[in-house]
Amino acid sequence: MIDADFQTSQFSDADMEKLKSFTVLEVLDPYNPLQQELGRRMELCTSDVNKPCRINLQTAMQFDAMLVIISGLMSSHFESSRDITKEEVDCSQFKAWNSGATFYNYLNSVKIKGLTGEITFANGQRNPANLSINLFNSVTRNYHSVGSWTEDMGLKLKPVIPSIILTQDHPHLLVVTQVEPPYVMFSCPHCTVDHERYSGFCIDLLQEISKIAKFTYTIYTVPDNNYGVYNPVTKEWNGIVRELLDRKADIAVGSMTINFARENVIDFTKPFMNLGISILFKRPEERAVRLFSFMNPLAVDIWIYILLAYILVSITIWIVARFSPHEWSNPHPCVDTGCVVQNDFTLANSFWFAIGTLMQQGSDLNPKAASTRIIGGIWWFFTLIIISSYTANLAAFLTVQRMATPIENAEDLADQSDIHYGTLADGSTMTFFRDSKIETYQKMWRYMESKKPSVFTQSYEEGVRRVLEGNYAFLCESAMLDYFVQKDCNLTQIGGILDSKGYGIATPKGSKWRDRISQAILLLQEKSIIQMLYDKWWKNSLVDGTLDPDSPTPNLKCPKKDLGSSKASALNVVNIGGVFVVLLCGLAFAILVAILEFMLKSKKMKIIKITRQLSYQ
Ligand code: ASP
Repeated sequence: MIDADFQTSQFSDADMEKLKSFTVLEVLDPYNPLQQELGRRMELCTSDVNKPCRINLQTAMQFDAMLVIISGLMSSHFESSRDITKEEVDCSQFKAWNSGATFYNYLNSVKIKGLTGEITFANGQRNPANLSINLFNSVTRNYHSVGSWTEDMGLKLKPVIPSIILTQDHPHLLVVTQVEPPYVMFSCPHCTVDHERYSGFCIDLLQEISKIAKFTYTIYTVPDNNYGVYNPVTKEWNGIVRELLDRKADIAVGSMTINFARENVIDFTKPFMNLGISILFKRPEERAVRLFSFMNPLAVDIWIYILLAYILVSITIWIVARFSPHEWSNPHPCVDTGCVVQNDFTLANSFWFAIGTLMQQGSDLNPKAASTRIIGGIWWFFTLIIISSYTANLAAFLTVQRMATPIENAEDLADQSDIHYGTLADGSTMTFFRDSKIETYQKMWRYMESKKPSVFTQSYEEGVRRVLEGNYAFLCESAMLDYFVQKDCNLTQIGGILDSKGYGIATPKGSKWRDRISQAILLLQEKSIIQMLYDKWWKNSLVDGTLDPDSPTPNLKCPKKDLGSSKASALNVVNIGGVFVVLLCGLAFAILVAILEFMLKSKKMKIIKITRQLSYQ
């Protein structure tokens, strides 16, 4: 039954060429790497790199038969077995090969993937094969894997088939993508039409490109959710790159970074967006504003030293003025008072003189002697410097809401171990650190690679979630970072951009679509349509990526703020309220002193009065 199907379901390349407007299903997967390798060795490939190497079914069956025998012979059980011996078998005699039964058993246990699908046996019979069903689209001249067939399960087709099978006016491309807001999002999982099922920047872009390059398309998401990295151990690519290498998709549209390793195995169009790697981090808490924040410009020690300097200078000027004869003068120069001289710099006046200068107000006391003038001059210079520094720093402290970020760039990250950091797993950001020759990035890679539990994330959402949970910095691409920072005010960018690259549309090597799509991208760039799409999806969309219907203007939910920016903001009572407190305390103290003075004076007057009364008696 299977054999019969095999015989009728296989078409030659020439048949394919004749079929201009039909869709055919065939058994062998022309893009099976094993078949490609065999085709190359048998020199069955054409010079057109776009066309797979095709072999006929008989050859494939023979190849699979050999594969079964080789794997039977190579099995470890067989090697270790001493039962099997080489014997000459004479066909004219009815004498069975002694080891035949054992060999038969080994063949029966073979389980292998051949050109005709999965090969297993039961009681000497091949189990129903799992046949891959490929679709040849005669318009696009492309093959697609569209399902499988088994005898017991029957035909199983992928859900994308119906739209492909429809005869197209334009070539129909199979587009692989990765769901990643705001580039590609699932907007309506049950819808059948692609541009209803998916939405996002890349979906809009794809639609614009398809109008210019004249093709229709069907989108599917990459099965392993990876963009694609090369694994040096298995020597295999995964993700979107794998899909293109296996020619399961015609193009890949998404936030797919162009890099050297990928460019070696697949093709990229001109970039439609430029970006670089940056650091996403949780916005630090703003410093609490305190009532006495006017004290902040100077450290506490400095305030204490200023107080000590004030006391010292006041006492020094008082003592020096007492010594200096030039500070002693007649209080009433027009009246000859004989030897009665007076010194203005009493202890209280000395303190008054020093504080007047410190407060930049001066006083009516003027030193006359050279010694006291020197002290005055030095003190003025000291206050000039202190007050200017205080004023300058006060402006900075009170107008800027400074935030304390523990890290400021990639070097800071590399030099510490308290804050964890990582990238998206199996993406170009990860390979950037893995392959970098810069010492800092190598150090970061060694940390990321060895850290347990893993610091790599399976998706951007997971990265953002870990950042918001705290103590984690996510190294990601700046275009994506801008999107998250604008949507969530708790997130911020740290430092600049570590490298420079772009997103492009990927195609299998040698695809004719590369140039056509590149031209379309250039045209869309010149018409600013790509910029308009960027504004639409970055500035005008809600947190879940859907468009904000009430927002005709850009809806910047969280305007980007630079940490420590010098933008001035109005001072309010919490900033400088402390000065008012000081003023009120000063006034209260002055009233108390006044009451004390009044009481002392009254007491003194009372004593004088009593003394006088006593003297009259
Ligand atoms: N856009 C990236 C890629 O193409 C994903 C990433 O690593 O950030 O692999």
